[in-house]
Amino acid sequence: MSDWKAELNDCITDVSELFRLLEMEPEVLPRCPSGSSGYPLLIPRSLLDRIEKGNPNDPVLRQFLPQEAETLSVQGFTDDPVGEAGKEQRVNQLPVLNKYTGRSLLLTTNSCAVNCRFCFRRHSRKKQLSVIHYPLSITVPLHCSEVILSGGDPLILEDTEVQTLVNYIRKFPNVKRLRIHTRLPVILPKRMTEKLVGVLDTRRQAAGLNAVYLVFHINHPNELTGEFFERIQTLQNTVLMSQTVLLKGVNDDADVLVQLFETLANHRIIPYYLHQLDKVAGAAHFEVPISRGRELLAEIAGRLPGYAVPKYVQEVAGEKSKIVL
Ligand code: SF4
Repeated sequence: MSDWKAELNDCITDVSELFRLLEMEPEVLPRCPSGSSGYPLLIPRSLLDRIEKGNPNDPVLRQFLPQEAETLSVQGFTDDPVGEAGKEQRVNQLPVLNKYTGRSLLLTTNSCAVNCRFCFRRHSRKKQLSVIHYPLSITVPLHCSEVILSGGDPLILEDTEVQTLVNYIRKFPNVKRLRIHTRLPVILPKRMTEKLVGVLDTRRQAAGLNAVYLVFHINHPNELTGEFFERIQTLQNTVLMSQTVLLKGVNDDADVLVQLFETLANHRIIPYYLHQLDKVAGAAHFEVPISRGRELLAEIAGRLPGYAVPKYVQEVAGEKSKIVL
Protein backbone atom coordinates (compact mmCIF):
# COMPACT_ATOMS: atom_id res chain seq x y z
CA MET A 1 0.00 0.00 0.00
CA SER A 2 1.32 3.48 -0.85
CA ASP A 3 2.46 5.73 2.04
CA TRP A 4 -0.38 8.18 1.63
CA LYS A 5 -3.02 5.45 1.53
CA ALA A 6 -1.58 3.87 4.68
CA GLU A 7 -1.83 7.25 6.41
CA LEU A 8 -5.43 7.63 5.31
CA ASN A 9 -6.28 4.27 6.77
CA ASP A 10 -4.87 5.36 10.12
CA CYS A 11 -6.60 8.75 10.54
CA ILE A 12 -7.71 9.98 13.95
CA THR A 13 -11.48 9.82 14.34
CA ASP A 14 -11.76 9.98 18.12
CA VAL A 15 -11.67 13.41 19.80
CA SER A 16 -10.32 11.99 23.10
CA GLU A 17 -7.37 10.47 21.27
CA LEU A 18 -6.79 13.72 19.40
CA PHE A 19 -6.74 15.69 22.65
CA ARG A 20 -4.38 13.22 24.29
CA LEU A 21 -1.94 13.46 21.37
CA LEU A 22 -2.17 17.26 21.41
CA GLU A 23 -1.67 17.35 25.19
CA MET A 24 -4.93 19.15 25.80
CA GLU A 25 -6.94 19.05 29.00
CA PRO A 26 -10.17 17.01 28.93
CA GLU A 27 -12.19 20.00 30.18
CA VAL A 28 -11.71 21.76 26.84
CA LEU A 29 -13.13 18.73 25.03
CA PRO A 30 -16.10 19.78 22.92
CA ARG A 31 -19.40 18.39 24.10
CA CYS A 32 -19.98 16.62 20.80
CA PRO A 33 -16.99 14.33 21.13
CA SER A 34 -17.25 12.21 18.03
CA GLY A 35 -18.50 14.95 15.72
CA SER A 36 -21.91 16.48 15.39
CA SER A 37 -24.76 15.58 13.08
CA GLY A 38 -23.13 12.38 11.88
CA TYR A 39 -20.14 14.28 10.51
CA PRO A 40 -17.24 12.79 12.42
CA LEU A 41 -13.77 13.99 13.19
CA LEU A 42 -11.31 12.93 10.48
CA ILE A 43 -7.69 14.06 10.61
CA PRO A 44 -4.45 12.34 9.51
CA ARG A 45 -1.81 11.89 12.20
CA SER A 46 0.94 13.73 10.33
CA LEU A 47 -1.20 16.88 10.33
CA LEU A 48 -0.71 17.10 14.12
CA ASP A 49 2.88 18.29 13.44
CA ARG A 50 1.31 21.50 12.11
CA ILE A 51 -0.87 22.07 15.21
CA GLU A 52 0.39 23.75 18.38
CA LYS A 53 0.19 21.39 21.32
CA GLY A 54 -2.10 22.48 24.15
CA ASN A 55 -3.88 25.12 22.03
CA PRO A 56 -7.56 24.32 21.29
CA ASN A 57 -7.73 27.54 19.21
CA ASP A 58 -4.91 26.59 16.89
CA PRO A 59 -5.95 27.80 13.38
CA VAL A 60 -5.31 24.44 11.72
CA LEU A 61 -7.03 22.45 14.45
CA ARG A 62 -10.10 24.71 14.44
CA GLN A 63 -10.86 23.70 10.86
CA PHE A 64 -11.27 20.03 11.76
CA LEU A 65 -12.32 19.91 15.42
CA PRO A 66 -16.04 19.27 16.06
CA GLN A 67 -17.51 22.09 18.15
CA GLU A 68 -20.65 22.30 20.21
CA ALA A 69 -21.60 25.35 18.10
CA GLU A 70 -22.21 22.99 15.15
CA THR A 71 -25.32 21.67 16.82
CA LEU A 72 -27.00 25.11 16.93
CA SER A 73 -29.62 25.91 14.37
CA VAL A 74 -28.85 29.34 12.88
CA GLN A 75 -31.23 31.14 10.56
CA GLY A 76 -30.05 31.18 6.95
CA PHE A 77 -27.71 28.22 7.37
CA THR A 78 -28.98 25.14 5.53
CA ASP A 79 -27.94 21.64 4.48
CA ASP A 80 -27.64 22.68 0.82
CA PRO A 81 -26.34 26.27 0.82
CA VAL A 82 -25.45 26.48 -2.87
CA GLY A 83 -28.56 24.72 -4.17
CA GLU A 84 -26.97 21.60 -5.66
CA ALA A 85 -29.52 19.06 -4.42
CA GLY A 86 -31.38 17.38 -7.25
CA LYS A 87 -29.33 19.19 -9.92
CA GLU A 88 -26.90 16.38 -10.53
CA GLN A 89 -27.31 13.96 -13.39
CA ARG A 90 -26.13 10.41 -12.90
CA VAL A 91 -23.89 9.33 -15.72
CA ASN A 92 -22.62 5.79 -15.32
CA GLN A 93 -23.33 6.17 -11.57
CA LEU A 94 -21.07 9.23 -11.42
CA PRO A 95 -22.83 12.46 -10.40
CA VAL A 96 -22.27 15.23 -12.95
CA LEU A 97 -23.22 18.87 -12.38
CA ASN A 98 -23.61 21.10 -15.43
CA LYS A 99 -24.33 24.26 -13.46
CA TYR A 100 -21.75 26.44 -15.19
CA THR A 101 -21.85 27.29 -18.90
CA GLY A 102 -19.08 25.55 -20.81
CA ARG A 103 -17.90 23.50 -17.86
CA SER A 104 -18.90 20.09 -16.63
CA LEU A 105 -18.26 19.15 -13.01
CA LEU A 106 -17.81 15.51 -12.00
CA LEU A 107 -18.35 14.57 -8.35
CA THR A 108 -15.84 11.74 -8.38
CA THR A 109 -16.09 10.65 -4.74
CA ASN A 110 -17.55 11.72 -1.40
CA SER A 111 -14.34 10.99 0.52
CA CYS A 112 -11.64 13.35 1.72
CA ALA A 113 -8.47 13.08 3.79
CA VAL A 114 -10.02 15.42 6.35
CA ASN A 115 -13.49 16.46 7.38
CA CYS A 116 -13.45 20.26 7.25
CA ARG A 117 -16.14 21.49 9.63
CA PHE A 118 -17.17 24.29 7.23
CA CYS A 119 -17.45 22.07 4.12
CA PHE A 120 -20.44 23.22 2.03
CA ARG A 121 -21.02 19.60 1.02
CA ARG A 122 -20.75 18.27 4.58
CA HIS A 123 -24.37 17.11 4.54
CA SER A 124 -24.49 15.71 0.99
CA ARG A 125 -21.16 13.92 1.55
CA LYS A 126 -22.86 11.71 4.14
CA LYS A 127 -24.73 10.00 1.32
CA GLN A 128 -23.55 6.75 -0.13
CA LEU A 129 -20.11 7.00 -1.71
CA SER A 130 -19.89 7.46 -5.44
CA VAL A 131 -18.22 4.52 -7.09
CA ILE A 132 -16.64 4.81 -10.48
CA HIS A 133 -17.83 2.02 -12.72
CA TYR A 134 -15.65 0.79 -15.50
CA PRO A 135 -15.66 1.01 -18.41
CA LEU A 136 -16.49 4.68 -18.03
CA SER A 137 -19.19 6.18 -20.17
CA ILE A 138 -19.39 9.78 -19.04
CA THR A 139 -20.93 12.18 -21.52
CA VAL A 140 -19.42 15.63 -21.72
CA PRO A 141 -21.79 18.06 -23.50
CA LEU A 142 -20.41 19.44 -26.77
CA HIS A 143 -20.48 23.01 -25.48
CA CYS A 144 -18.13 22.12 -22.60
CA SER A 145 -14.48 22.99 -23.09
CA GLU A 146 -13.56 22.24 -19.49
CA VAL A 147 -14.09 19.33 -17.13
CA ILE A 148 -13.74 19.91 -13.40
CA LEU A 149 -13.03 17.02 -11.05
CA SER A 150 -14.47 17.69 -7.62
CA GLY A 151 -15.88 15.64 -4.75
CA GLY A 152 -15.03 15.02 -1.91
CA ASP A 153 -11.46 15.11 -3.03
CA PRO A 154 -10.78 13.60 -6.46
CA LEU A 155 -7.15 12.87 -5.60
CA ILE A 156 -8.31 10.34 -3.04
CA LEU A 157 -8.78 8.08 -6.05
CA GLU A 158 -5.89 5.75 -6.85
CA ASP A 159 -3.38 6.97 -9.44
CA THR A 160 -4.70 4.39 -11.89
CA GLU A 161 -8.26 5.69 -11.42
CA VAL A 162 -7.15 9.29 -12.00
CA GLN A 163 -5.27 8.07 -15.07
CA THR A 164 -8.39 6.32 -16.37
CA LEU A 165 -10.50 9.44 -15.85
CA VAL A 166 -7.94 11.70 -17.54
CA ASN A 167 -7.58 9.30 -20.49
CA TYR A 168 -11.33 9.13 -20.84
CA ILE A 169 -11.82 12.90 -20.69
CA ARG A 170 -9.05 13.32 -23.27
CA LYS A 171 -11.19 11.51 -25.82
CA PHE A 172 -13.59 14.45 -26.08
CA PRO A 173 -12.07 16.80 -28.67
CA ASN A 174 -14.12 19.72 -27.32
CA VAL A 175 -12.55 19.42 -23.85
CA LYS A 176 -9.39 21.52 -23.78
CA ARG A 177 -8.93 22.03 -20.06
CA LEU A 178 -9.07 19.76 -17.04
CA ARG A 179 -9.36 21.32 -13.60
CA ILE A 180 -8.88 19.37 -10.38
CA HIS A 181 -9.96 20.80 -7.03
CA THR A 182 -8.06 19.16 -4.19
CA ARG A 183 -6.88 19.54 -0.62
CA LEU A 184 -5.07 16.21 -0.38
CA PRO A 185 -1.55 17.21 -1.51
CA VAL A 186 -1.58 19.98 1.12
CA ILE A 187 -2.75 17.67 3.89
CA LEU A 188 -0.64 14.68 2.78
CA PRO A 189 2.14 15.87 0.44
CA LYS A 190 3.08 12.25 -0.28
CA ARG A 191 -0.09 12.13 -2.40
CA MET A 192 1.90 13.89 -5.13
CA THR A 193 3.39 10.62 -6.38
CA GLU A 194 5.64 10.42 -9.44
CA LYS A 195 2.93 8.54 -11.26
CA LEU A 196 0.32 11.21 -10.52
CA VAL A 197 2.71 13.94 -11.68
CA GLY A 198 3.06 12.01 -14.95
CA VAL A 199 -0.70 11.64 -15.33
CA LEU A 200 -1.18 15.40 -14.94
CA ASP A 201 1.58 16.33 -17.39
CA THR A 202 -0.10 17.32 -20.66
CA ARG A 203 3.22 17.04 -22.53
CA ARG A 204 2.98 13.29 -22.18
CA GLN A 205 -0.47 13.14 -23.70
CA ALA A 206 -0.90 12.41 -27.36
CA ALA A 207 -3.89 14.66 -28.06
CA GLY A 208 -6.85 16.43 -26.56
CA LEU A 209 -6.25 18.40 -23.38
CA ASN A 210 -4.20 21.55 -23.69
CA ALA A 211 -3.99 22.42 -20.03
CA VAL A 212 -4.40 20.91 -16.58
CA TYR A 213 -5.22 23.24 -13.70
CA LEU A 214 -4.64 22.07 -10.16
CA VAL A 215 -6.48 24.16 -7.57
CA PHE A 216 -5.34 23.58 -3.99
CA HIS A 217 -7.61 24.36 -1.06
CA ILE A 218 -5.41 26.08 1.58
CA ASN A 219 -6.67 28.30 4.39
CA HIS A 220 -3.69 29.06 6.64
CA PRO A 221 0.09 29.33 6.15
CA ASN A 222 0.64 26.76 8.91
CA GLU A 223 -0.87 24.11 6.59
CA LEU A 224 2.06 24.53 4.21
CA THR A 225 5.16 22.34 4.46
CA GLY A 226 8.51 22.10 2.72
CA GLU A 227 7.55 18.66 1.46
CA PHE A 228 4.41 20.04 -0.21
CA PHE A 229 6.44 22.66 -2.08
CA GLU A 230 9.15 20.17 -3.02
CA ARG A 231 6.65 17.74 -4.49
CA ILE A 232 4.63 20.28 -6.45
CA GLN A 233 7.78 21.72 -8.01
CA THR A 234 7.87 18.54 -10.10
CA LEU A 235 4.61 19.66 -11.75
CA GLN A 236 6.35 21.66 -14.45
CA ASN A 237 3.50 21.68 -16.95
CA THR A 238 0.48 22.15 -14.74
CA VAL A 239 -1.12 25.47 -13.84
CA LEU A 240 -1.13 25.78 -10.04
CA MET A 241 -3.73 27.86 -8.22
CA SER A 242 -5.21 28.05 -4.74
CA GLN A 243 -8.52 28.81 -3.13
CA THR A 244 -9.12 29.84 0.46
CA VAL A 245 -12.24 30.04 2.59
CA LEU A 246 -12.42 33.09 4.86
CA LEU A 247 -12.92 31.64 8.34
CA LYS A 248 -13.41 33.35 11.67
CA GLY A 249 -10.69 32.40 14.13
CA VAL A 250 -8.59 30.83 11.38
CA ASN A 251 -7.57 33.41 8.79
CA ASP A 252 -9.66 36.56 9.34
CA ASP A 253 -6.50 38.58 9.78
CA ALA A 254 -4.64 40.61 7.13
CA ASP A 255 -1.17 39.50 8.29
CA VAL A 256 -2.16 35.83 8.07
CA LEU A 257 -3.69 36.21 4.60
CA VAL A 258 -0.73 38.24 3.31
CA GLN A 259 1.67 35.59 4.58
CA LEU A 260 -0.42 32.84 2.96
CA PHE A 261 -0.82 34.47 -0.45
CA GLU A 262 2.78 35.70 -0.62
CA THR A 263 4.15 32.25 0.26
CA LEU A 264 1.95 30.67 -2.41
CA ALA A 265 3.02 33.23 -5.02
CA ASN A 266 6.68 32.54 -4.13
CA HIS A 267 6.08 28.92 -5.13
CA ARG A 268 4.27 29.47 -8.47
CA ILE A 269 0.78 29.05 -6.97
CA ILE A 270 -1.58 31.84 -7.97
CA PRO A 271 -4.15 32.69 -5.26
CA TYR A 272 -7.38 32.37 -7.21
CA TYR A 273 -10.39 32.74 -4.93
CA LEU A 274 -11.03 33.88 -1.38
CA HIS A 275 -14.47 32.43 -0.65
CA GLN A 276 -17.04 33.93 1.62
CA LEU A 277 -18.27 31.05 3.79
CA ASP A 278 -21.14 29.09 2.28
CA LYS A 279 -23.99 29.14 4.78
CA VAL A 280 -23.97 25.45 5.55
CA ALA A 281 -25.76 24.27 8.69
CA GLY A 282 -23.23 23.65 11.45
CA ALA A 283 -20.67 26.20 10.30
CA ALA A 284 -22.17 29.54 11.40
CA HIS A 285 -19.43 30.03 14.00
CA PHE A 286 -16.92 30.41 11.13
CA GLU A 287 -18.75 33.28 9.43
CA VAL A 288 -16.90 36.55 8.87
CA PRO A 289 -19.14 39.50 7.90
CA ILE A 290 -18.72 40.53 4.24
CA SER A 291 -17.92 44.08 5.36
CA ARG A 292 -14.92 42.72 7.32
CA GLY A 293 -13.91 40.56 4.34
CA ARG A 294 -13.87 43.65 2.13
CA GLU A 295 -11.70 45.52 4.64
CA LEU A 296 -9.26 42.63 4.68
CA LEU A 297 -9.14 42.51 0.87
CA ALA A 298 -8.44 46.25 0.70
CA GLU A 299 -5.55 45.88 3.12
CA ILE A 300 -4.14 42.86 1.31
CA ALA A 301 -4.39 44.63 -2.05
CA GLY A 302 -2.27 47.45 -0.61
CA ARG A 303 0.47 45.02 0.43
CA LEU A 304 0.72 42.46 -2.38
CA PRO A 305 1.13 42.53 -6.17
CA GLY A 306 -2.15 42.17 -8.04
CA TYR A 307 -1.52 38.57 -9.13
CA ALA A 308 -1.17 37.51 -5.48
CA VAL A 309 -4.53 39.01 -4.46
CA PRO A 310 -7.40 36.54 -4.97
CA LYS A 311 -10.91 37.50 -6.00
CA TYR A 312 -13.22 37.71 -2.98
CA VAL A 313 -16.28 35.72 -4.09
CA GLN A 314 -19.50 34.18 -2.90
CA GLU A 315 -21.50 31.35 -4.41
CA VAL A 316 -25.19 32.19 -4.53
CA ALA A 317 -27.71 29.42 -5.21
CA GLY A 318 -29.22 29.77 -8.68
CA GLU A 319 -26.56 32.18 -10.02
CA LYS A 320 -24.67 31.16 -13.16
CA SER A 321 -21.32 32.19 -11.69
CA LYS A 322 -19.82 33.28 -8.40
CA ILE A 323 -20.52 36.84 -7.26
CA VAL A 324 -17.45 39.05 -6.80
CA LEU A 325 -17.87 40.87 -3.49
S1 SF4 B 1 -11.40 18.94 1.54
FE1 SF4 B 1 -13.01 20.12 0.50
S2 SF4 B 1 -14.63 18.65 0.05
FE2 SF4 B 1 -13.28 17.71 1.59
S3 SF4 B 1 -14.18 18.23 3.57
FE3 SF4 B 1 -12.70 19.82 3.12
S4 SF4 B 1 -13.89 21.43 2.10
FE4 SF4 B 1 -15.11 19.55 2.02
